[in-house]
Amino acid sequence: MKNNFLDENGYYGRFGGAYVPEILQKNISELKGQYLKIMNDPKFKAELNRLLHHYVGRPTPLYYASRLSELYGTHIYLKREDLCHTGAHKLNNALGQLMLAKRMGKTRIVAETGAGQHGVGTATVCALMNMECVIYMGATDVKRQYLNVQRMRMLGAKVIPVTTGNGTLKDATNEAMRDWCCNPIDTYYIIGSVVGPDPYPDMVARFQSVISEEITKQLKKQTGREAPDYLIACVGGGSNAAGTFFKYLENEKVKLYVAEAAGFGLDYPLQSAATIHLGREGVLHGSKTMVMMDGDGQIAEAFSISAGLDYPGIGPLHAYLAETGRSKVFAITDSEAMSAALTLTQKEGIIPAIESAHALAVLDKCRFKSSDVVVITVSGRGDKDMNTFAEYFHL
Ligand SMILES: *Cc1c(COP(=O)(O)O)cnc(C)c1O
Repeated sequence: MKNNFLDENGYYGRFGGAYVPEILQKNISELKGQYLKIMNDPKFKAELNRLLHHYVGRPTPLYYASRLSELYGTHIYLKREDLCHTGAHKLNNALGQLMLAKRMGKTRIVAETGAGQHGVGTATVCALMNMECVIYMGATDVKRQYLNVQRMRMLGAKVIPVTTGNGTLKDATNEAMRDWCCNPIDTYYIIGSVVGPDPYPDMVARFQSVISEEITKQLKKQTGREAPDYLIACVGGGSNAAGTFFKYLENEKVKLYVAEAAGFGLDYPLQSAATIHLGREGVLHGSKTMVMMDGDGQIAEAFSISAGLDYPGIGPLHAYLAETGRSKVFAITDSEAMSAALTLTQKEGIIPAIESAHALAVLDKCRFKSSDVVVITVSGRGDKDMNTFAEYFHL
């Protein structure tokens, strides 16, 4: 099986690994020993594919955006993850991990959430499969994202507000880890992106790789070729980007562009989430990667107008792809993203999530040939961001 730059110790170059407390070593090695076996089991695959099709709504369309293409003088295709059930790509992973947890005999799920999208995805599949579900969420985020808290509660999950630190994602993550440490036998921890200790980054990338599998087939059908010239995706932790790139990682002819959230801009490091541009090597969430830090080496609070991208770290695969030059990283400011969201809305009638709008904003920073094929992943829909859009555009 292809290793996607991952070595046998769980590192992508110098990034990755599993920096977890002693008490979790056993859980991590149990997971590491089982995830590929289970994921490759034909029965597991068939059941996952059945639910991806009938429940999540896959395959999502690969849509030729003709008016956007005309505007930028090239061929632009949109991979419509915004049309997945619950409105984003997150469910691909939450569903896969929950099925895996069941296979491993686990009876209780914990997860962390920032903006609440991963919490909603996890609560959704827990309802579907009748599993006990506990979601840790920073107290500040609980206030900011109250609609998602209500969705999770209606779905039957227990939402625990975390008041330590700043009450945001990294504090919620610490609490979820602590819970897992206390309940290592019956509990499974569903991580929401290609972050965390090995084997999570690889496992989540594999569950999201359905995105690039579909792109390959759909592009072949629509254009006669399997590979585009460019793939573009936004990166918070990096799961929609990893899923988009997965099949093309070793095809050097396909250029991989990622958009990270620069907030106010690279000149304002305290109001930015551009981890690859501004971060330093550190350990976050159980893996060695690029991390936003303050002068004392403490994890810094990341800032972006988009709640799904204001994470102070980045998946180790993306740290590696950027360092080796395999990917090109664009720092997109709040205002560039908001403008790109409006352009897509008015040219194609699609309101994207603000996260996804960061990927669309890359179009303004590049020159493409008229013959190029550019595929952009629209990771989610903009309904959840309507308050922010309304305030920003005075709607
Ligand atoms: C969570 C989220 C993201 C960021 O997560 P990745 O792991 O980087 O994909 C991007 N877009 C949407 C719509 C999200 O909900």
